[in-house]
Amino acid sequence: MSELATRDITYLPGVGPKKADLLRNELKIQSYEDLLYHFPYKYIDRSRTYKIREISTTSSHIQLRGKVVGLNTVGSGKSQRLVAKFADDSGVIELVWFKFLKQIKSSLDPNVEYVIFGKPSKFNSSYNIVHPEMEKVDPAKPKIVSGLQAFYHTTEKMKNNYLSSKGIQKMQQNIFLSFQGLISETLPAYIIQQYKLMILDHALRTVHFPKNSQELQQAQFRLKFEELFYIQLNILRLKNQRSRNIKGHIFSTVGDFFNHFFYNNLPFELTGAQKRVIREIRNDVGTGRQLNRLLQGDVGSGKTMVALMVMLIALDNSYQACLMAPTEILATQHFESITQMLNGMDLNVRLLTGSTRKKQRDIIHSELQSGELQILIGTHALLEDVVQFNNLGMVIIDEQHRFGVAQRAKLWKKNDIPPHVLVMTATPIPRTLAMTVYGDLDVSVIDELPPGRKPIETKHYFHNRRNNLNKFIKTEIVKGRQVYVVYPLIEESEKMDFKNLAEGFEYMQTAFPEYKTTMVHGKMKPAEKDAAMQEFARGEAQILVATTVIEVGVNVPNASVMIIESAERFGLSQLHQLRGRVGRGAEQSYCILMTGHKLGEDTRKRMNIMVDSNDGFEIAEADMKLRGPGDLEGTQQSGLPFELKIANITRDSQLLQHARNVANAILEKDPNLEQPENQILNRQLTKLARQKMNWSMIS
Ligand code: ADP
Ligand code: MG
Repeated sequence: MSELATRDITYLPGVGPKKADLLRNELKIQSYEDLLYHFPYKYIDRSRTYKIREISTTSSHIQLRGKVVGLNTVGSGKSQRLVAKFADDSGVIELVWFKFLKQIKSSLDPNVEYVIFGKPSKFNSSYNIVHPEMEKVDPAKPKIVSGLQAFYHTTEKMKNNYLSSKGIQKMQQNIFLSFQGLISETLPAYIIQQYKLMILDHALRTVHFPKNSQELQQAQFRLKFEELFYIQLNILRLKNQRSRNIKGHIFSTVGDFFNHFFYNNLPFELTGAQKRVIREIRNDVGTGRQLNRLLQGDVGSGKTMVALMVMLIALDNSYQACLMAPTEILATQHFESITQMLNGMDLNVRLLTGSTRKKQRDIIHSELQSGELQILIGTHALLEDVVQFNNLGMVIIDEQHRFGVAQRAKLWKKNDIPPHVLVMTATPIPRTLAMTVYGDLDVSVIDELPPGRKPIETKHYFHNRRNNLNKFIKTEIVKGRQVYVVYPLIEESEKMDFKNLAEGFEYMQTAFPEYKTTMVHGKMKPAEKDAAMQEFARGEAQILVATTVIEVGVNVPNASVMIIESAERFGLSQLHQLRGRVGRGAEQSYCILMTGHKLGEDTRKRMNIMVDSNDGFEIAEADMKLRGPGDLEGTQQSGLPFELKIANITRDSQLLQHARNVANAILEKDPNLEQPENQILNRQLTKLARQKMNWSMIS
């Protein structure tokens, strides 16, 4: 394979410097190998030719055979286009071009038969095909495509420079024509044998030029398996190495702080799940292994309490602890609730955020270094280099999905011996994905809510039910409850969104003059934001109109109604997060999703899922099915640490599990991959690591 990797794509027949530049800049394709691994995104069966009269609104791409019987340039300026009439013995259809009019006009020959290929669309009661692929019928020349035709992603820029999917296909063909001999194998022979995989050479040829769908499936299986297998092998090997090499601080005792808190301060009985997770963490930190654990728990499951008690264990062993949260509001709230819960215990706890004053900052920095400061709570400000601990033993990261892997790594380095790290998330990532993205973390789950919580009732209203909604809000406020109204805020349409938010605020003030309505959004100064939040938290304001700044973690147990405006503009996980702001007290809570009447299929599904389910894990799975993992909130923010070329985490989750099992079995027998038959694995891992580095240097 290495030979293909070093062959410059410029020298492939039919490429040349200009196309090579395009391939490099647009698709990062530099070598023969890069091109071979630019896989088709779909295939279309061209074994059948249709008649024009057979075309219907449901036709996707189809193949027709006939002649050009008329040709006209219509319109002018930008809307100028070339329209051809194309006929077979069953009817006529229009072919339309918006680009390259001159070239196409001069190349079309009314005297020969064409096989054309494209997607028909209905226009003024007749059908047309825009920019069809055309090939003259030449009985002397065999077609390059017989069975399934592969389609490749290209970019707008490539298309404008005559480099289409078809062009890429020709290049693929030229690679196989110019490269004699077998493409060398990248998996050990024993794996190929044991799992009856197609050899690489055959798989690559087949994936670009499949003879039939059965063979295609076998080729795809082989390539997907390999892709997922190497990711898992890499993750598992690193994980094993780390647990062997990195020693963690040993927290040998559970002492006075923990016990005092447990017996005197704990405001409620812990749930079974909370107890179990604390036990799991205690086991980890007692062994000398470094804790590196992901704690998943649905919104409201009581992760903060776990965090606090774990930090107390660190303190009992004379270490410092810190808790990092993604927003100022959330960090402040953690600080307040934690200091309150520690009431009566003589502990030094401080808050550090972007808006902490210099004087206070200096105190924090020096107390951290001397070791006087025991618990530091804050935002990204904790990551700054000036923040140096005396002996940091435990790091807790709340709402992990908001932070990237790099940030997690930065906290690691705050101590010579890396601290224990617990990351918490309420955006439950489906197991298969967690395994891939956070494959190096252990996972604990809080799968139980504190007792007495009533499931939140979720309803979907169209805008015309605003009056009913207002009546409902009124009854809830009369009962003493409070109400959130959330508006979307998305950067591209920021201005419009602020207008909506401001209007919503005014509307609520006018509709409920007898109550106090307050507002928070990201553009406010921290002090203003804080004042408004406090007003609501203390119950002085009954209605809070806000953007998604309140999405994570905010805790006002007396609020029982969450109204989400333009709910169609939120993703499922975000809707679930927002909903989690209510249902925190003992009262029945409600979430109302407001949308317009016109909804797409997916949006309708999203609303229904929300109405039907309160379970974050179920919602995350559904979300992944609807949107595909690349778009899953959370993973997108932290970024998948690798790029998948052919496998799909949603669709191939079983194969992922299989690949992981195979990787595990190999590492159990040969942890450092030293056996001769495994050298090929080592080489591939090194190569993949190098590629990843190169990507990150480019982008
Ligand atoms: P999350 O997991 O979303 O971060 P929180 O830690 O904010 O949840 O907890 C939500 C609410 O539940 C808080 O008001 C907290 O005090 C309360 N809580 C946590 N654990 C328990 C428990 N075991 N029993 C009763 N209430 C609890
Ligand atoms: Mg929380």
